[in-house]
Amino acid sequence: MRKITRRSFAALAAGVTAARLNAGQPAPTGKIKITDLRCAILGGSPVVRVVTDQGISGYGQAESRKPYLKPMVLFYKDYILGEDPTDVERVMLKIRRLGAMKPWGAAVSAIETALWDIAGQVAGRPVYKLLGGKIRDRVRVYNGGVRFPMKRHMPEDYAEVMQKMKEAKEGFTIIKQAVGFHNAAMMRAIPDAFYDEPRGGAPHPFRGMLTERGMAHIVACVEAMKKVLGDQVALALDCGPGHTLKDAIKLARALEPLNLLWLEDILTGDYTPYPNADLYRDLTLSTSVPIHTGEQIYLRQNFKDLIETNAVDVIGPDPADVGGIAELKWVAEYADLHGIQIAPHGVFNGLIGLAAQVQVGAAMPQNYIAFEYPLGEPEWWYDIVDGLPDPIVKNGFIDVWDRPGLGVTFRVKEARARLREEDRGFFD
Ligand SMILES: [Mg+2]
Repeated sequence: MRKITRRSFAALAAGVTAARLNAGQPAPTGKIKITDLRCAILGGSPVVRVVTDQGISGYGQAESRKPYLKPMVLFYKDYILGEDPTDVERVMLKIRRLGAMKPWGAAVSAIETALWDIAGQVAGRPVYKLLGGKIRDRVRVYNGGVRFPMKRHMPEDYAEVMQKMKEAKEGFTIIKQAVGFHNAAMMRAIPDAFYDEPRGGAPHPFRGMLTERGMAHIVACVEAMKKVLGDQVALALDCGPGHTLKDAIKLARALEPLNLLWLEDILTGDYTPYPNADLYRDLTLSTSVPIHTGEQIYLRQNFKDLIETNAVDVIGPDPADVGGIAELKWVAEYADLHGIQIAPHGVFNGLIGLAAQVQVGAAMPQNYIAFEYPLGEPEWWYDIVDGLPDPIVKNGFIDVWDRPGLGVTFRVKEARARLREEDRGFFD
């Protein structure tokens, strides 16, 4: 037998590589190319359009709370011009590492979704086919956005709105309600609910220990809501950020008899984009209530500690922040390996975001619970988008559709009329 020297091994390896290249198809020659990246703000929502030289465009959408996102989206333009958009991952390698937790990750995520929209259209297939194919024909959603006005914030007021949500035409099987520091009005409804002073400014500024009275008020409100929902509709609670670990444990234990679906973001989360896996693990091991977090987190790497230490029971990445829909599915598979469930966030992602959630939701592994149903806001959004079912939600589910790409398109004439002056050329 011929002795393999270091030099001959290198030659052999080179030969194998060459053989592989020759046996395969030629490298893509870029039959379709990205010619432009645009961003318009439609009713507060940043909408991304990736334009190609083949008359096909892809769309993505970021949260309606980020109307300032346009310059961040356009920052990535020079990195992707001339690329083949159907090689989604190759394009993403150019920009993913230039993202970050909010807001840069949101821009990257919207671009990623738009690339999948193009890839699906070019293939003549719905995006879920490109993400591994569907394992369900309808996707469960949860209600985080259909809300009714409240005069006060006492237990009976929460019972009243919960009754209306239960009767909503969508037939939701899961309702999520803000409580604790996630709900400033609830905490302001009674005097001295916690040991810091109430603060204003950006959402969710409260922190600190609850008083006995504050804790009792939260528990009473949750009990009132649960009494209305019974075992017919599941109740999940969005709680923080800003609670102490001990308060989180006390609250979770007090609520254990109510069979809640999950407690979300009680330690970190909204506007505190920090996984804090060690504290979450202590909380998770201290209660039978499923603990949930992750909506602000960008990329699989930042889920590593949460998932690998089983620090939570449920993760809730938002496809419009985590890096896109394929990234969301990757994180879902990674969580599934560790026995962790997934319920993606997305209440502010609008109707393009809704379409993206349906596509990836169809292909999500079996640890999928439901995604947070986004609303078209303002209401005229429903008049500028074609392709959504009518009604969109039936008995708490959305039927998966089969049109190519994301399967939704703009009614350009109607949508153009809603553009800001500086975005005039968006659909040209
Ligand atoms: Mg949340």
